[in-house]
Amino acid sequence: MPLGGGRTGSARTAAALRHARARRPRSLALLRDLIRHPTVSADPAHRADLRACAELLAAHLRRIGLDAVTVRAGRVAPYVTGAWLRRPGAPVVLVYGHYDVQPAGPRSAWATHPFRPTVRGGYVHGRGAGDDKGQLVAQLAAIEAWLATGGPPVNLRIVLDGEEEIGSPALRDHLPGRPAFLRADLAVVSDTRMRDAHTPVLVTGLRGSLAVRLDVTGPATDLHAGAYGGAVAEPAQVLCALVASLHRPDGRVAVAGFYDDVRPPHPDTRARLARDGPTDQRFLAPAGLRYGHGEPGHSAFERATVRPAVVVTALQAAARAAVPHRARADLGIRLVPGQRPATVFRALSAHLAQRVPRGVRARLTPLFSCGPYRMDLRDPSVAAASRATTPVFGRPPLLLPSGGSIPFVGDLAATAGTRTLLLGFGLPDDNIHAPDERFALSSLHRGTDTCVRLYGELGAL
Ligand SMILES: [Zn+2]
Repeated sequence: MPLGGGRTGSARTAAALRHARARRPRSLALLRDLIRHPTVSADPAHRADLRACAELLAAHLRRIGLDAVTVRAGRVAPYVTGAWLRRPGAPVVLVYGHYDVQPAGPRSAWATHPFRPTVRGGYVHGRGAGDDKGQLVAQLAAIEAWLATGGPPVNLRIVLDGEEEIGSPALRDHLPGRPAFLRADLAVVSDTRMRDAHTPVLVTGLRGSLAVRLDVTGPATDLHAGAYGGAVAEPAQVLCALVASLHRPDGRVAVAGFYDDVRPPHPDTRARLARDGPTDQRFLAPAGLRYGHGEPGHSAFERATVRPAVVVTALQAAARAAVPHRARADLGIRLVPGQRPATVFRALSAHLAQRVPRGVRARLTPLFSCGPYRMDLRDPSVAAASRATTPVFGRPPLLLPSGGSIPFVGDLAATAGTRTLLLGFGLPDDNIHAPDERFALSSLHRGTDTCVRLYGELGAL
């Protein structure tokens, strides 16, 4: 009988669960320690904090029984790798998580200090609590529980990224070389959210991302609006016209070729999304909106997950009562399977180039890109995740796509063919990337229990 299956397996899973439950206070203490490190990867001033947090995690991994090292390959932050490979012949599972966080923004927007964790109302509050430190701690607690009770029925590799929020440049550089520390039969990531506290979600796909910057420049300097207004092409006005030209009034993207490689979602997928995904009303409520807007013929949830989008993330132009001599827009383009960042970039460049009037110049610069990801639902790990989730939540996970991107996941599939099981424990109102970020203690506990069971199930595959 394979390890993890049958009576022997359930007895071992039960022992690991008992261990994890007894250690709950320690897990919470670890999460608080992690939040105390302001690991903002977008801000070079936090390099030392990122290094310190990486060292803390590497020490923790060694303490619980993994071989772990801190790799300082990153431009900003190191990543931490760990391994436990003492189950010859059993599958190798790669656990990926990230310890860096988004900037906290103004302190005044937070009820309590973003980097001084507090527990209130059943939640741990602090920057990174939900994305991704709390989810990471759930994974680590499960791994610790197995290592303390005879070892998991699978081999484990762990990668803890310190640059996920800036696109994982160092790790992605290493992927094409297929380094040993990333070789695995399956990857597991807990960095996504559930539908609500009682309804887990196995994420079936992620959108890719292409970030570009559009700079429009014209006159040599800012111009007096009275002296020149009406007589020259104004960069700010041209920028607005260019940005406006990207969509038709009905919400469909107007760039020629943009949809060429987009396949319509399968009718089964649409039916599943309609049944299990949020209604428009429920989807829009956290945004404080009654009406959505976007590609016609699709629900809000479809538009945000299985359809591509061109999103304006920044507009800049300023001069004191004068004509600004330059203007800038940042665009975030979300891609679905079939679309390639380079092809979309070319289509966008061609679209814009035709619309720039004389007297100004427009330059489009790619800032970042990553491909989309889709999970094969026939993969046996999907059924294993279902069996792991059901005893904890009383139901199997919903199978739903996410509109977000995790660059490492798409790259791992593209370069090594490694599938990733995306099973996360965040909640829609965890305020990730926003003030008052939090992570529910129930998510921490149930997430840990689910991960304990998941490793038991994966050993039985
Ligand atoms: Zn994350």
